[in-house]
Amino acid sequence: MIRQISAENMRDAIRTVKRDITLPAVLGRICPAPCEKGCRRREHDDPLAICLLKRYAADVDLASGAPYLPDCRPATGKKVAIIGAGPAGLAAAWHLLQFGHACTIYDRNDKPGGNLQYAVPLDKLPRDILNAEIRQIEKLGATFNLNHPVQDQSSFENLRKTYDAVLIAAGKIQPAQLQIWKLPAAEPGIRANPQTGQTEVPGVFAAGSAVRELKMAVRAEADGKTAAYAIDQYLTGQTITGLPKEFSTHIGKLQKGEIEHFMQEVPPHPRQVPDDHATAGFTAEQARTESLRCLHCDCRKPDTCKLRIYSQRYQANPNRYPGDRRPFEMQIRHPEILFEPGKCIDCGLCVQICEKAREPLGFTFIGRGFDVRIAPPFRQPLAAALTRVARDCAAACPTAALALKTDLTRLTQQK
Ligand code: SF4
Ligand code: SF4
Repeated sequence: MIRQISAENMRDAIRTVKRDITLPAVLGRICPAPCEKGCRRREHDDPLAICLLKRYAADVDLASGAPYLPDCRPATGKKVAIIGAGPAGLAAAWHLLQFGHACTIYDRNDKPGGNLQYAVPLDKLPRDILNAEIRQIEKLGATFNLNHPVQDQSSFENLRKTYDAVLIAAGKIQPAQLQIWKLPAAEPGIRANPQTGQTEVPGVFAAGSAVRELKMAVRAEADGKTAAYAIDQYLTGQTITGLPKEFSTHIGKLQKGEIEHFMQEVPPHPRQVPDDHATAGFTAEQARTESLRCLHCDCRKPDTCKLRIYSQRYQANPNRYPGDRRPFEMQIRHPEILFEPGKCIDCGLCVQICEKAREPLGFTFIGRGFDVRIAPPFRQPLAAALTRVARDCAAACPTAALALKTDLTRLTQQK
C-alpha cells in the first residue's frame, strides 16, 4: 500500500488495504494503530503513519464517486446467517461474499455498525463515513435484517435450519443467552476454536467479543475475517484450519549500524502530522511525503520469491536450525539495481547470466563451504560488476537479493 501511495496509484492502494481491512476509513479514525509498533523506521525516528495512510487511501476511494468493490467468485448457492452487524460481522460478510456465499446479517438495532454506530463519539467517527463503508458491503451483496434480535431458542434453531452456516458476532454474550441457544460457554463467551471460531455445534461459528475480550475494532475485524475463511472451508468440504498460513521469516530486531543501510534509500524528513491532528487526515502532499519515509524493509518479491514458494510447499520450519543471522547490508551504488547480500542463497543464477552475456566483471563465488558468498570479484563496486545484465540478474534472482530499484528509490536518491 505504501509503495502504491508513493506512486499515486490509489486504486491499487485501496485494493491492497481492503484485502485485509473492511472498514479502513473507520479504523483510520479510531484505531490506536498497534501495527505501527512493529515499524522499523521507529529505530531511526518515528514509525510510519500506517494507520493514517490507510485512512487516506480509503477517504480518496470513498470520495472517488465509484468506491472499490472486489470481484466475487461465482455464487455457490450456500447461505450464511450472521448475527451482529458490528465490525466482526461486517468483516465476515465482506470476505464470505467474495467467496461466493450469500450473507444475511441480523441485528437488534435499527442501524448496522454495532458499537461503531452507537458508542464511538460523533466527533471521532462521523457516521457518514461509517455508513459509506457499510454501503460497500451492501453493494457487494449483503442483506441486512435490522431490528431483528435473535434471542429465543426457536429463532436460533430456525436460522440453523434455513442457512448452511451461522456466525455469531453479536458482541459480548451473556451466559443466560448461551444457555437459551444451547451453546457451550467458556469464560468470557462462547467456547470456540481460537484458530477458526468453530463451535461444538455443527455449522455454528463465533467471532469477536462473542468469544474473547476485545478492546479494538481492528481485532474484531480480524476475527471476522478468520471466521469467514473457516466457514468457507466448512461449506466447501475442506479441512477447517482458518486463515491460510503463509511461510514467513523475519530478520527481527536490527543490530547496531543496520538501520543506516536502510536509511541510505530514503529521505530523512520527520513523520507527517495532519494539520488538525485530532480529527483531520493527510492531504495528498502529506500522504505522499509520509509514504516516502518507508524503508522498504519488507520483502521485495513477496508473491514470487521461490525460496518462499518452496518453503511453503515443503512446509519448511525456519526455526529448525537456529543460528546467527547474517548482518543486514544494502548496496545501492548502481543506477538500476540494489543488492542485499543477506538474502542471497548462493543459487548462482546471476553468475551464470553474467558468464553467458560475457559481462566483463560480473558476479562470482567467493570463499568456500559455509562461508561461500556471491559478490563482484576483486572487491569491485556493484556498478562496475554489472554493466550489461543487471536487470536480467534482478529478474532471475529468486529471493530479490538482487532487485530493481523502484522509480521511488531513484526519485528519493535524486533529492
Ligand atoms: S516496510 Fe515501511 S512501514 Fe513496513 S516496517 Fe518497514 S519502514 Fe515500516
Ligand atoms: S541470483 Fe540472487 S540468490 Fe542467486 S546467487 Fe545471485 S544474488 Fe544470490
